[in-house]
Amino acid sequence: MNVLVVEDERNLADAIVRIVSDGGDTADAVYDGRAGLRAACSGRYDAVVLDVMLPGLDGREVVHEMRRQGVATPVLMLTARTTTADKVDGLDAGADDYMTKPFEADELLARLRALTRRKGDVMLDDVTFADVTLDLATHDLSRGERTVHLSGKEFEVMRILMGSSPRVVSKQDLLARVWGDVDASENSVEAYVSFLRKKLAHIGSSVQITTLRMLGYRLEVLEE
Ligand code: CA
Repeated sequence: MNVLVVEDERNLADAIVRIVSDGGDTADAVYDGRAGLRAACSGRYDAVVLDVMLPGLDGREVVHEMRRQGVATPVLMLTARTTTADKVDGLDAGADDYMTKPFEADELLARLRALTRRKGDVMLDDVTFADVTLDLATHDLSRGERTVHLSGKEFEVMRILMGSSPRVVSKQDLLARVWGDVDASENSVEAYVSFLRKKLAHIGSSVQITTLRMLGYRLEVLEE
């Protein structure tokens, strides 16, 4: 995996880069929030280690803006603070996990591996479910020779549904991970799911997005 480290304490940032490199992976460090956001949205990283207290944009603003732009890269937030309110703030903003400083190198690596496993699709060229394939580079959804292009948010929703199957994905989870805002309207999610259903039908796929009342969505294969 390729890890982005956003931390203004240079000694710590460089130490994290070394920890990741020693674990056999690669990492780059940047030292302020704006550079962090640019790098995080570059598509070059499989995970981001993000400090909360940063010059420029703070860590919560960085992850919030990443999610708003449809960047679903997993984020592990770091903070020296330990209150539950800080943790909830970070997770609400769209972070996937949280660690308080100081931490052990082994724990950092274990958490990064868990995050990139959970989102293992980011490390592949494409994702397949039943008869459909989603190309992570071009955002094309294909069944056999039939292909349709997905818009940014359609792509993120489809990728999460495919990566989560057979688990149910809640509307709140999609709002947090794709829109970066759990207060955005659930109508947005419903609209994008509706677009995706039309596109799945357009390419003649047997895959359908099933609505489970009060729970969310799940990909299923329509029996002939
Ligand atoms: Ca800091």
